[in-house]
Amino acid sequence: QINEAEAMVFSVPNYACQRRTTLENHNAVLTDALSLLAENAELEDEDGRGVAFRRAAAVLKALPKPVTSLTQLRGLPCLGEHSLRVIQDVLETGSSSEAESTKQSERFKALKVLTGIFGVGPKTAAWWIRHGINTLHQLRASGHTLNRAQQAGLEHYDGVNRPVTKAEADAIGEIVETAVTSVLPGAQVTLTGGFRRGKLTGHDVDFLITHPEEGREEGLMPKVVSWLESQGFLLYQKTTRNSYLESKDGPARPASNMDRFERCFSIFKLAEDERRETKQPETRTDGVTRLRASEDACGRQPALSQADEEPKPWRAVRVDLVVSPISQFAFALLGWTGSKLFERELRRWAGYEKTMSLSSHALYDNKQSRYLKATSEEEIFAHLGLEYVPPSERNA
Ligand code: ATP
Ligand code: MN
Ligand code: MN
Repeated sequence: QINEAEAMVFSVPNYACQRRTTLENHNAVLTDALSLLAENAELEDEDGRGVAFRRAAAVLKALPKPVTSLTQLRGLPCLGEHSLRVIQDVLETGSSSEAESTKQSERFKALKVLTGIFGVGPKTAAWWIRHGINTLHQLRASGHTLNRAQQAGLEHYDGVNRPVTKAEADAIGEIVETAVTSVLPGAQVTLTGGFRRGKLTGHDVDFLITHPEEGREEGLMPKVVSWLESQGFLLYQKTTRNSYLESKDGPARPASNMDRFERCFSIFKLAEDERRETKQPETRTDGVTRLRASEDACGRQPALSQADEEPKPWRAVRVDLVVSPISQFAFALLGWTGSKLFERELRRWAGYEKTMSLSSHALYDNKQSRYLKATSEEEIFAHLGLEYVPPSERNA
């Protein structure tokens, strides 16, 4: 039992990149409520409000103990009036009535279902809702034209919305590694995103590809994609070429988090694990021989159709591939490791506190009017005057 007067008052630095945020969270009920309100704001296309809730949640994630009273939060950064009201509600009643009613609202549910389709953002979802479309069934029945990404997203909806495990991420890592070294020996593949931060599940798997000799990575992505396609590993892919060199909008372009690397947004076809497969009979009672998982990994349509009512021997997984020249690798690695809020805060820190512009390509010092080179993430933190934060502590 903690007396308010005895309860410790927390202290947290202003920027998430000055803090160490592990996956251990002592205030999950509070941060879940704030994250839900952030998600809702983002779904409503109100990013400013979304960031405010994300920042508030991140401050609570960094606390060493559960919050027991509002007084402990006095003086903490990023806790606005609205967030404090939500926190107070949770502390007094055990849950946030605003988060709960949002979760149950038809609009939130519809926005979430529709944006769950790969290739569908909040604006498209809102437009469909205005036209009476709230569910996948209604969307399919409406006859609305979908672009190629959305068609794939609808077709593989369940897979894309099922969390990816670390084991599945590693299995995909091996495939990507094989593809990359087959088309360019010596090229290197690094797992980035949430899995690099130590998360056990993710919404996708992110990889950064480079080659130790500058320039050798040029044109690599189309070759990797062709290899993957020829082996039947891709259900969908869209490759965007590198547009960094020809862009005219300034050194590091801090205003946007979109970078311009050669990249590929894809949906992989991942064979279900062999262990499960071997438990199933090789031969069915009607004498039809089942394909083994290894054979099916080549992506041919499963020989047995859905009429068999067997679970699919493969699942769909979202995968992001990015190719970076070695000279920009450290920046790309830092930029693609996340979390999204941690990245945003790094750029805010660079701009406001250091008069520098940070992107996934470079760090530009606006006072010295020059680029600051770096070959490791540690060097970038040092340039920024920040203590190094390892990936596992960037879970803001
Ligand atoms: P999850 O487990 O949900 O995938 P995550 O942290 O891996 O979590 P992602 O959306 O995969 O989230 O993003 C990983 C990193 O890649 C983030 O740091 C994000 O800033 C960066 N990123 C994502 N999309 C882009 C983009 N279009 N341009 C530049 N960077 C991006
Ligand atoms: Mn990811
Ligand atoms: Mn991603």
